[in-house]
Amino acid sequence: MSRISTFKRGGVHPADKKYLAKDSPIERLPLPAELIVSMSQHLGAPATCLKKKGDTVVKGEKIGTAASFISAEVHSPASGTVTEVRKVRLPSGVVADALVIKTDPEQPEMFTERFEWKDLSNEELLAQIKEMGIVGMGGATFPAHVKFNTGGKPVEALVVNGVECEPYLTADYRSMLERAEDTLEGIMILAKILNPKKIIIGVEHNKPDAIKHLEDVIAKKGYPIEVYDLKMKYPQGDEKQLLVATIGKEIPSGKLPLDVGGVVCNIGTAYAVFEAVVYHKPLIERVMTVTGEAITTPKNILAPLGTKASEIIAYCGGFNTENVDKLVSGGPMMGFAFADEDMPTLKGSSGLLCLKGEPLNTGVCVSCGKCVAHCPIGLMPNRMFRNISNAKYQEAMDLGLMDCKECGCCAFICPAHLPLVQGFKLGKKMGRKK
Ligand code: SF4
Ligand code: SF4
Repeated sequence: MSRISTFKRGGVHPADKKYLAKDSPIERLPLPAELIVSMSQHLGAPATCLKKKGDTVVKGEKIGTAASFISAEVHSPASGTVTEVRKVRLPSGVVADALVIKTDPEQPEMFTERFEWKDLSNEELLAQIKEMGIVGMGGATFPAHVKFNTGGKPVEALVVNGVECEPYLTADYRSMLERAEDTLEGIMILAKILNPKKIIIGVEHNKPDAIKHLEDVIAKKGYPIEVYDLKMKYPQGDEKQLLVATIGKEIPSGKLPLDVGGVVCNIGTAYAVFEAVVYHKPLIERVMTVTGEAITTPKNILAPLGTKASEIIAYCGGFNTENVDKLVSGGPMMGFAFADEDMPTLKGSSGLLCLKGEPLNTGVCVSCGKCVAHCPIGLMPNRMFRNISNAKYQEAMDLGLMDCKECGCCAFICPAHLPLVQGFKLGKKMGRKK
C-alpha cells in the first residue's frame, strides 16, 4: 500500500510538461556511424584513455580506466576503429579527452548470458559494479562502487529515486513501466550489499500507473520493498528532500545521507547495476528523453553513449521551428544549456530538451523575498547573489553558498528573472579558488 508524503521547506511547482513524451515507449536509436566517447562522464577524475588513433575497439571493451579513487571506467559502446583522439567541451563547460570511434556496420551480439549473483560476496559485487563503470544515472554521476561501499556503516533505508521531478523528463517513468522486473532485481542486488532495514521507492503522484505496476511486480516477486506515493513538488528528487519525504530525516549541512542512515539511488542506476551484475554489461548506453516544444516528435530513446545531439534531433524528426531558444542537456531546472549540436551523450544525460521562444529579460532585485521562501535548503539567495555580484565571495560562502544544491527554485520564482544559479556556480568556483 503506498502512502502520500513530501518534504516540508520551500520548493516550487513548475508545469510538468511530461505529456509531450510520456506515452512514447523506449525506442533503441540506430547505431550512429560515429561516436564521440568522453573520458569524463562521471564526478571525479577523468578516466585515463587506453586507446589511440588507429586502434580497433570491441563493443564493451574498456577504453578508459579510473584515474583515482573517485573516478570510473569507460567502455566502448560499439565495435569499430578509433579515428581521432580529441578534446570535447561537455555541457557543464568541462573540456575532456574523447575518442572518436567509426563504428562497424556489423556489431556482435553480446551480454546475453545470465550470471548468478546471490552467492557473490559484497566485495565481489562492488568490484563488478566498478569494473562495469556504473555511476549515478540521475545526473550526479557519482561512481557507484564508491557510493555503495558504506564501510560497514548501518543503513536504515535504501531509498530509490523514481521521482523524476524535473519537468519534461519521462525516461525514468518509462523505465519503471517497461523495465520494472529487472530494475527491482537491481535494487535487491544493492540491498544485498547495503543490508538496509527498509527499502523504499519514492515516485511522484503524477505517475500512478508506474506506482501500480511497481507494486504489482513487487507483490509477484515477494520483495520487501515499499513504494511511497509522493506529492508533486520540485525538487523532490534531490536526495536531501527525498530523505525528508520518505524517512523523515534531515541531512545536516556538510553531512552525507549515510550520516542519517540513508542511501539514495536513482531508478536508472538500479537498472544499470542489474545489467552489470547479471549480464556483465558495462554502462555503454542509456535511456533519455528527447523533448521540448521545438522538437517534431518527442521520444524516449535508448542511445549509445557518445551519440551526437544532432543524430538524436534528426531521429526525432528535427526541429519544428526556426525559433529554437536553447538546447539543454538534462531537465530545465538543473540541466546545462549548450549550443554545439555535436555534443555527445554521456552517462548522466537524462534528457535532451529543445526549447522554443524568446530568452527572458532580466531586471533588478525588488526584494520580494520569494527566493528565500522557496529555497528548500533555507538559504537567502538574494543576499548571496548580491554578494557574488559585488565579488564578495567569502560573504556569500558565510551565508551558506556551499550548501546550495543549484536546484533552481529561486531562479524559477524570481520575478526579476535574475540568473541566480549561474551566479551561485560562479561564486562557488571563485570561493573555492580563494
Ligand atoms: S538554487 Fe540554491 S539558493 Fe536557489 S533555491 Fe536551490 S538551493 Fe536555494
Ligand atoms: S526573488 Fe528575485 S527579486 Fe525577489 S528577492 Fe529574490 S532575487 Fe530579489
